[in-house]
Formats: sequence, structure tokens, C-alpha cells
Amino acid sequence: MNDQQLLRYSRQIMLPEVGIEGQEALLGSTMLLIGMGGLGAPAALYLAAAGVGHLIIADFDTVELSNLQRQVIHYTNDIGRLKVDSAKETMQAINPTIKITCVSDLDEGNLSKWVGLSDIVLDGTDNFETRFKINQACVALKKPLVSAAVIRLEGQLSVFKGYEANQPCYQCLYPKEGTDNNNCTDNGILAPVAGMLGTMQALQAIKVALNLGEQLVGKLMIIDALDCSFRTVTISKDANCPVCQ
Ligand SMILES: [Zn+2]
Repeated sequence: MNDQQLLRYSRQIMLPEVGIEGQEALLGSTMLLIGMGGLGAPAALYLAAAGVGHLIIADFDTVELSNLQRQVIHYTNDIGRLKVDSAKETMQAINPTIKITCVSDLDEGNLSKWVGLSDIVLDGTDNFETRFKINQACVALKKPLVSAAVIRLEGQLSVFKGYEANQPCYQCLYPKEGTDNNNCTDNGILAPVAGMLGTMQALQAIKVALNLGEQLVGKLMIIDALDCSFRTVTISKDANCPVCQ
């Protein structure tokens, strides 16, 4: 690290849990963020600011007026632009020293390639079909999956290491049958709830990268913003899971 980097990350480096070694580990890591929406936007801002050396951001969509209420990485002038281009510009304005790769054509054909290039994957998508595919790739390629979901005034957060013998994967939590897509387009969402879950997702990704504290592996945190309650339940590996068994 040069003097500018030491200064930029000084408030993190002074934490005994991070230090120079931890900051260098972050600078040396690659994270894949899928979805530059309500979750991906705050997660990307914080991971860029915190100095994750290479961020791969994936989204096929363009910025719409109704996104701006919660997708805080995009600005009014960005309406109509690809979300990945808009997000990259904001991230580089905060931190021009990291590498950002934009992917606007993520699909089944190239998902494994991008997951394979990453140390950690953050899922900020809003439909089960995509989430199941991301989970499959993460289990197959042995990559930790930091998963978050938000709707209305509720959120969920977990880290999956389904490739480990006793750890569940995302599919263990949601058996394929009977899952309806519950997204904010149909149900609404209060803006700071997305911000809270997206930043918590970034926090868990950093903790996994640095092997710090409680990482929520095999656990699901359920947040009710209306009650201001946080509770954590244990998730079991499904003995019949088609993905991780
Ligand atoms: Zn499983």
C-alpha cells in the first residue's frame, strides 16, 4: 500500500480486526455482486469505499425513475443508462484505485466463469429462478454466497457454504416447489430497509473475506423493521437437496 492508500483506509486499518494485513487481503480479493438494485447499490458503494480490490458488478437492466427511491448508487441523470455503467461511475468517483468490471450479459452460459473468478458472491437479485442458479454455481465452484432479500419492511440475510459437509445451501432453505416470487415491484419496499440489508450484506462479505466474528453460515437472520427486531434461526442441510448432496 502506498501513503494515499494507507490514509484512505486508515480508519479501517486501525481496527485490530483488520490491520494492514486485513486491508491488503481486501485489496487482493475479488467479489461478484449480482444485481445493482436495492441491495446491490448500497453493497457496491460500501465495498468500493472499503477497498475491495476487484468488484465485478452484474445487471442487465437500465435505470428507471422508480429505482431511485432505494437504488442509491444511481442518480436522476442516469435514467436510461445501463445500471452497471451508472454504478461503476459512482463507485469510481468514491474510489478510483480499485478495479471494477461490468457484466451486462450474465446468463446461464457465463455464470460459472464469473463465479469462478470471484472469491465471494453477493446475491442481490429478486427472483427465485436466478437465485437457485447462482446457488448452484456457488456450490459447484465452492464459493461462499452472501445472500440477502428484502420486501416491504422485512429482510433476510445469510451466508451459504453448501459445499461444506454439514452446511446448507440456499436450495436447502427453499425447496424448489411452491416458491412464489415475492418482489418489491409487486409488494413495495421502504427505502432504508433495502439500504440496511445491502450494507449488512457488504459487512458479511468483508467478514467472510477476513474470517471475522459471526458470519451467519448455516443461519438465517430475519429482520422486521417495523418491530425493530432481529432474530436468527439455524438452517439445516437438507439430506435430499439436489444441489449440495
Ligand atoms: Zn442444499
